[in-house]
Amino acid sequence: MYQSFIPPKRLLMGPGPTMVHPRVLEAASRQTIGHLDPAFTGLMEETKSLLKYAFQTENSMTMPVSAPGSAGMEMCFANLVEPGDTAIVCINGVFGDRMKENVERSGGHAIVVEDSWGKPVSIDKVKQALEQHPETKLVAFVHAETSTGALSDAKALTELAHQHHALVIVDAVTSLAGVPLMVDEWQLDAVYSGSQKCLSGMPGLSPVTFGENALDKIRARGTRVQSWFLDLNLVMGYWSSDGGRSYHHTAPVNAIYSLHEALLMLHEEGIENSWARHRENHLLLVEGLEAMGLEMLVPAASQLPQLNAVKIPDGVDDVAVRNRLLQDFDLEIGAGLGELAGKVWRIGLMGESSRPENVEFCLSALRQVIDGGSITAAA
Ligand SMILES: *Cc1c(COP(=O)(O)O)cnc(C)c1O
Repeated sequence: MYQSFIPPKRLLMGPGPTMVHPRVLEAASRQTIGHLDPAFTGLMEETKSLLKYAFQTENSMTMPVSAPGSAGMEMCFANLVEPGDTAIVCINGVFGDRMKENVERSGGHAIVVEDSWGKPVSIDKVKQALEQHPETKLVAFVHAETSTGALSDAKALTELAHQHHALVIVDAVTSLAGVPLMVDEWQLDAVYSGSQKCLSGMPGLSPVTFGENALDKIRARGTRVQSWFLDLNLVMGYWSSDGGRSYHHTAPVNAIYSLHEALLMLHEEGIENSWARHRENHLLLVEGLEAMGLEMLVPAASQLPQLNAVKIPDGVDDVAVRNRLLQDFDLEIGAGLGELAGKVWRIGLMGESSRPENVEFCLSALRQVIDGGSITAAA
């Protein structure tokens, strides 16, 4: 017969989702209330305010989209790209490719600036592209490329875009809470993230924030946003604080309870402390990996602390190692994606998963599996 699902006990050290703290899980299990109940409205306000803290912004248009990070991405592109707009899209991994798709599906014209996987976005190449395409309305880039572990300079890219009168769309899905992300100080125009990476919430929500210049562009649109669900004007009517909250969709009530708790925990820790913790555990991991003779994909200067891509040594069987880690150690690490498939492992140290004891456990498990034989590739 069918039975309730009991998940296996795992330690999640991949590209997300991460471990979720019992407080966050418990919050989700509390009784559901109506999404227009004044008590829930109060929770929505507090969630927005905690999100502003996480994003380091005063933007009033800051809220969680009721869907995963990919929906936050679509919301940014669907609202900010108008048919015929030129957008420069920086591609240095999997997620840049998706941004290009989004520009094109919104009727825009994408100019691609490519960097090799593992490198940050090149400021010089973006500068050249902006000079060659003065009609550019938007520059889109991934702050923290989860597919490679490379961090790009969001502040410098945004300054450059603004000098050329273009707005920026920033993918901060993996960067939020893991590395400094200063939405107001760096004047980022439109930013989206995810609940299940360094925030360590349950998967399924996408925090977004929009600055005044982005809102002006959206207000000045000559065409309707093609997506009804992601039309910012309609969604904001639901999340607005000025009394007129009206039914748009039913918020995932319990998921918001849990996001609120995760954000509360971030606030209690202090965001600077969260950044520092991610960095310390990353240094511990890299030291241990290098002591094993393994090599990181990304040079130290642009390594992400929360996502560590390490090269798989010659002759070692990628799939066999990951299977043994899962079966014998209940440990999940990430596989390489796209052109890095079979070439790297991606060890995540995000949010709750970023703890020194997890680093030690992962290093010890890897040592045992690699030294234990039977994982070398078949000749
Ligand atoms: C995970 C991720 C996404 C997509 O988020 P989902 O919640 O899986 O939809 C987008 N961009 C980056 C950089 C990511 O790491």
